[in-house]
Amino acid sequence: MNRRYRKTIIAGNWKMNKTLTETKAFAEAFKPLLNRPKWCEVVLCVPYVNLQAAIRLFKDSKVSIGAESCHYESTGAFTGEVSPEMLKDIGVKYVIIGHSERRQYYNETDVTVNKKVKAALEAGLQPIICVGESLEQREMGVTMDLISYQVRCALSGVPAEKMRKVVFAYEPIWAIGTGKTATSAEAQEVCEGIRTIIRKKYGARVARSVTIQYGGSMNPKNAFELLSQPDVDGGLIGGASLKPDQFMDIINAANQE
Ligand code: PEP
Repeated sequence: MNRRYRKTIIAGNWKMNKTLTETKAFAEAFKPLLNRPKWCEVVLCVPYVNLQAAIRLFKDSKVSIGAESCHYESTGAFTGEVSPEMLKDIGVKYVIIGHSERRQYYNETDVTVNKKVKAALEAGLQPIICVGESLEQREMGVTMDLISYQVRCALSGVPAEKMRKVVFAYEPIWAIGTGKTATSAEAQEVCEGIRTIIRKKYGARVARSVTIQYGGSMNPKNAFELLSQPDVDGGLIGGASLKPDQFMDIINAANQE
């Protein structure tokens, strides 16, 4: 983390978990634990149907609410989809774009990721752009080539002045939901690499202001070490964000001096 230049963001990704009743129960248990996070912003990305309830439930807290995806058009004949404008209109602040599960199961490509990033920024949302390699790609030694391609595609046509709103999440696919975590050195190496790509495109001032998270089986035990790396500015957390005490422990790790 480098708190001088950029925000630390701890974000939960609930995926397809929690009914409305369970969302309310989480808020009831979590809010009393949340003793004014000093350094980091806390975000919960929840299923579309529970966004409005989550916004209401966390209205008077420090928690911002995010969606887990969006379409790239603002209106139209796209049955089942939700536009960035719709999300912004109800008070959503962040949106995850290009999560590996969307890439794997729902045909998300680097081209659609780019369209969604631009549409989200246009609507006034902050995209959390996920990039990451598979185990095979890591073993082939092409991790940074792939990450560079994903980052450059995602940012194609994004002007420098919008970069203040952009968040990246480095999520090695082999670490998501598997209990396997990248070492802090591996996480640092790729997060630093992402910052270098941003620096080459936008210059040093923009690069040092962008929050770059790590995601992949982050938990209360490994959070502090991962977050201590200079270019790891937060976490995108799946499993551990479903449990109020575990999520809070990760936030506390980010808040340590
Ligand atoms: C994720 O879904 O973005 C994620 C990192 O999941 P988990 O923490 O469960 O690995």
